[in-house]
Amino acid sequence: MVALFSLQEIFVMIVMKFGGTSLGNAERIKQVAELIKRRDDSFIICSAMSGVTNSLVDTSGHWKAGNHEGVAEIVAGLKKHFELTCYDLFDNEKATLEATSIVSGHFELITGRMGEDYSIHNENWLLARGEIITSEIIALYLNSCGIAVTWLNALDFTLTGSDGEPSVTDMRQRLSAMIGDNPSGRFLTQGYICIDHEGNTSNLRRGGSDYTATLAGAALEAAAIEIWTDIDGVRNNDPRFVEDTFPIRELSFDEAAELAYFGAKILHPACVWPASSDNIPIQLKNTLEPDAPGTMIRSGTTRKGITAVAAKDGITVIRIRSDRMLNAYGFLSRIFAIFEKNKTPIDVITTSEVAVSVTIDDDTCLPAIVPKLEKLGKVEIESAQAIVCVVGDVLEQHTDRAGRIIDSLRHFNVKMISYGGSRNNITVVVPAEQVKDILRSLNTLLFGTVLKQVTDG
Ligand code: ADP
Ligand code: ASP
Ligand code: MG
Repeated sequence: MVALFSLQEIFVMIVMKFGGTSLGNAERIKQVAELIKRRDDSFIICSAMSGVTNSLVDTSGHWKAGNHEGVAEIVAGLKKHFELTCYDLFDNEKATLEATSIVSGHFELITGRMGEDYSIHNENWLLARGEIITSEIIALYLNSCGIAVTWLNALDFTLTGSDGEPSVTDMRQRLSAMIGDNPSGRFLTQGYICIDHEGNTSNLRRGGSDYTATLAGAALEAAAIEIWTDIDGVRNNDPRFVEDTFPIRELSFDEAAELAYFGAKILHPACVWPASSDNIPIQLKNTLEPDAPGTMIRSGTTRKGITAVAAKDGITVIRIRSDRMLNAYGFLSRIFAIFEKNKTPIDVITTSEVAVSVTIDDDTCLPAIVPKLEKLGKVEIESAQAIVCVVGDVLEQHTDRAGRIIDSLRHFNVKMISYGGSRNNITVVVPAEQVKDILRSLNTLLFGTVLKQVTDG
């Protein structure tokens, strides 16, 4: 007889990722527990409670500057924050004591480490404490409520290679050794943190828990990846700067990747590829409104028109000008090789006969890059720039959409325009201080009619 169900129907592990905004205090953690309780088989990924990673980043800043009082003040505040959360969360003395002694144990380790000199390895070790402490408290809480979870240390299965990138295959092997090939039940672990190729604690960059979630989803061949946050889905524009935004219910993997990469903070820039390679849907859900539809990201969604606008600041423009570029071959590859050698990705690029402009968002290696570029031509650097990206079918025929977008930006100081690289986006580079106004102006231009329909009901 032929089996009538597919592997996915038998094995329905779901990845559920809860961001810091969903774990901000005891009340929010209790709401999350209710959501976790709904499923028997899940792989749960926790960020640090909101604000914790920011505080740890600030602590590292003081540590680096040798400001011991600054360090002590933030560390004491963080300890108190975790302890108060435990008092609010647990309703019996024994569990409260157990939770606060977990917190004390971690803070003893932290205080010990802070006695050492600052180093990037020590900073990364410190940044990982947010996720570790948060996940231990939550696992204890869930188990104390009868919602059985097995706590896993993400540092045992999230490893990056010498390129700084994690590998799904490696994660799959490690997870399978830890929990078997067809795990059932609930597992709870940390997002964001990893071990680098030299064995040091490191991380997948800010917002990296989304990335852990999709990597784990691919490694476990999960049926779906749920990303739980504090807003109903991906909006058509950045809700931090624009008042009238609306949720996008369906996004293709390509659209979501462009939005994440070019600034929509709701998703980590790299988190779409692990899911899209294995065709695993990603669902963005709101912890505060769990039954709201959120956004579904999956393959095969094709859409006409413009989907969304996003922006990313902290961008540096580098312009290389050289007469030697005229009719010469190999010039661009020499430029790219310099960035490649310094492990610095280029985001946007425009060229003319005698000049090339590129943007980067990580300027750590700029001091090493510039002297090498100067051997090729005259180099100009502009920092404090931003990328604004319009995602959707910008090339749709007979719409003159691209023309209208570019025309609407005539009052802004546009430094670069990238158009035609894909059907999916137009990207412009502008001074960071103009971003809010541009996002608002594009909102009216591109979504004015939709917004009117939403308001008119
Ligand atoms: P989490 O702690 O759950 O990871 P984040 O703060 O990283 O949450 O991401 C959610 C936030 O992303 C939202 O509160 C919102 O302010 C911001 N955001 C930026 N752009 C968008 C967008 N296009 N759609 C939805 N949210 C966005
Ligand atoms: N806690 C980390 C951060 O704040 C990772 C994450 O939230 O995804 O960046
Ligand atoms: Mg996030």
